[in-house]
Amino acid sequence: MNSTDFTADLDGKKCVKCEKDAKFTGVDPKKAWYCQECFIQMVKNKFRSALSKKKIYKDADARETLVVYDGSPSGAFLLNQIDDALKQITYKRLMVQPTVLVLVSVTEETEIQRVVERVEELKKELLENVRWFIAHVACSMYTDSVDLEGLRCNGTEKIPEYTDLLSSCSVPTYRKELERILREKCLQNISKSLKISKCMVPDDADDLGRLALDQLCLGRGGSLSPLVTVTDKRSDFLLIRPICDLSKREISIYNYLCAIDKQYIQFHTHSNTQDRSVQALTDAFIRTLEDEKFYSTINTVLSTASKIHNTNGKDGSRCVLCHVEVADCSLCSTCSAIRDSCSGLLSRFL
Ligand SMILES: [Zn+2]
Ligand SMILES: [Zn+2]
Repeated sequence: MNSTDFTADLDGKKCVKCEKDAKFTGVDPKKAWYCQECFIQMVKNKFRSALSKKKIYKDADARETLVVYDGSPSGAFLLNQIDDALKQITYKRLMVQPTVLVLVSVTEETEIQRVVERVEELKKELLENVRWFIAHVACSMYTDSVDLEGLRCNGTEKIPEYTDLLSSCSVPTYRKELERILREKCLQNISKSLKISKCMVPDDADDLGRLALDQLCLGRGGSLSPLVTVTDKRSDFLLIRPICDLSKREISIYNYLCAIDKQYIQFHTHSNTQDRSVQALTDAFIRTLEDEKFYSTINTVLSTASKIHNTNGKDGSRCVLCHVEVADCSLCSTCSAIRDSCSGLLSRFL
């Protein structure tokens, strides 16, 4: 990747912050343009303001946070922001005590080994003095707490059960949703096992905009806000999405400019793009809109979704599987449908 990928159509534009020649823009080229320094600052500010608006680190006692790295550009960006935050010595220092969790989703042994080796290299480059753990999403299958060890990928022994469960799900849309639910379950299991009550995930605006549309189609439209905004409070832990206001484009420009793009772990995903799932359709829908220059779709979807709050579940009752608020029963209707498509293998969680 090089800077010309990002700098088409300059046309003598000036930076909106400082009057220097503009070089970069966010999502929508019809909106603000920035010079290099102001662009970097704008992206950093979005990260910091997401955390400060919600006053997440105001208590002196709860600074321990699990920071999830999934190998993606957004994941690398998040790690670097946390690394920067620890190195800051100004009065505005972000009071966070991170533990890095490298979340692995590939299932082949040689690929997992490659990740373990890559992590050993990364640990020398950033967040050198914090704990790192590597865990497979199959840790979601544990019903007790997980004994995490350093130096290896934890949870690999559960991969067969994990893949059996997913492949038992006969409807592609439900299978994808189950994958998402299991990823959250995995994070919850690990947070609990490490006794860390906060968990930061690298979900960016593109991911969350698509998720909002997926969830509308899955009938969870009434509970959108906690699924796509900065904080998602669960009974025993808090999911934090500090880069929910940043697009993949902004992140990849930033990563390129700050040489973070060397810190990715490229997983070979075997995801089937021919999959006839709602999620694949949502993805295609948004791509088409972007190709037709409707750049603000994601922003519009997210700002609308953030205003939708459930009025059910005032007593705090939650679906045992996906944690959306439910009026009475223990399983939301979407999860009941997922259960019915899984030929009984899901019963361990219910
Ligand atoms: Zn500027
Ligand atoms: Zn549910």
